Amino acid sequence: MTYTAVELIETKRDGEKLPPDAIEWLIASYTDGVLPDYQMAAMAMAIVFKGLDGDELATWTAAMLNSGEVLDFSDIPLAKIDKHSTGGVGDKISIPLVPLVAACGVAVPMISGRGLGHTGGTLDKLESIPGFTTRIDTGRFHEILARHNLVLAGQSDTMIPADRKLYALRDATGTVPSVPLIASSIMSKKLAEGLDGLLLDVKTGSGATMRRLEDSRRLAETMVGIGIDNGVETVALITSMEQPLGNEVGNSNEIRESVAVLRGEGPADVTEVTLSFGEVMLELAGIDGGRDRLEETIASGAALQKLIDVTRAHGGDPIVLEDTSLLETAPYEGVITAESGGYVTRCDAFTIGVGARRLGAGRERQEDDVDHGVGVSLRAKLGDQVTEGDPLAIVHYRDEARWAGERDRLASAWSIGSEPPVTTDLILERVDHTVT
Ligand code: URA
Repeated sequence: MTYTAVELIETKRDGEKLPPDAIEWLIASYTDGVLPDYQMAAMAMAIVFKGLDGDELATWTAAMLNSGEVLDFSDIPLAKIDKHSTGGVGDKISIPLVPLVAACGVAVPMISGRGLGHTGGTLDKLESIPGFTTRIDTGRFHEILARHNLVLAGQSDTMIPADRKLYALRDATGTVPSVPLIASSIMSKKLAEGLDGLLLDVKTGSGATMRRLEDSRRLAETMVGIGIDNGVETVALITSMEQPLGNEVGNSNEIRESVAVLRGEGPADVTEVTLSFGEVMLELAGIDGGRDRLEETIASGAALQKLIDVTRAHGGDPIVLEDTSLLETAPYEGVITAESGGYVTRCDAFTIGVGARRLGAGRERQEDDVDHGVGVSLRAKLGDQVTEGDPLAIVHYRDEARWAGERDRLASAWSIGSEPPVTTDLILERVDHTVT
């Protein structure tokens, strides 16, 4: 059967089902550059509104996965376990987490993404380390993993090329928040990694790609189902993203905070999530010792050393991990202050994520470069007590006009009240079964 893109876009726009061979044709034609961006963008928007059913999603995910090589690490005699987040603001957890578990004997073949929408991306953060390249071929990917138990790369022409293109397109076309598009994007990358186990961090709340708990739960169940159907033991944790994680938002800023966690000096929330996720990854790998083992690996310096070694293997200069003040910082500093005294009752992750993106920490268009030096350092978060004039955030920026346009919007992320707010747990639910 032959198809035209317009007919298929209309089919999905009208809420009808796409035939399997049409989905395969769409993904293959887009990957090969035959289907133009504007038609795939229209299809993605139709999917945002009309969704994909279970059969369509399985075919879509398989077509993305098979757009490149499926990796095989059966020669590496360790459990291969990875973690992936659906995306949040200040969500740098992968950066301290994966060297930590790799130093405990887990092999982590991580394929990550760039910033997406208002959320940051692991690849952009890693590239704030001078020289760090995340564009490596499958041979080098294998070598680094075999040598260090850890490799951190992006989608490429050979590894899930369909997601490389579609991810960048979605970032610039407002087509991120869709259960099937997120699930297929994440699971195609993870199924290409030849994993034994997978931990998914599904964010929920203002700064998440899915804001409502019921949507996040549906996303978690969908991805766990895809993992299990493909023979990968998969656990999802639904975690809160009402306010940014940690105190730092922005690429260099988040590397600094990740290193602090690996030195045992990180903020309580980032440290807690890192350790809790580490426990699940060790459990998936069948490695004993749990939290004690993770804490000892941080205290001995082995976890930070792993990040340093892997940075060197990726061509990065680890001097900035030894002295994080050497990481790039944008030249101008702005301060957001409290207009009244009281308790911080809102520190809105979405508003802060959008502000950081607009100041240059993320992209507005596919071809934009991110500015690694732009960042927001939070000085007051939910429940903190402040007096009038106290700093709520210090912002590093490069462009005076952009700062003038963004300052008030960023300041609107905070609300101050007379009573402390009710706060929720960071880790809300665990999903490790498929709901039928
Ligand atoms: N992470 C991904 O890799 N893809 C998405 O769509 C969202 C988060």
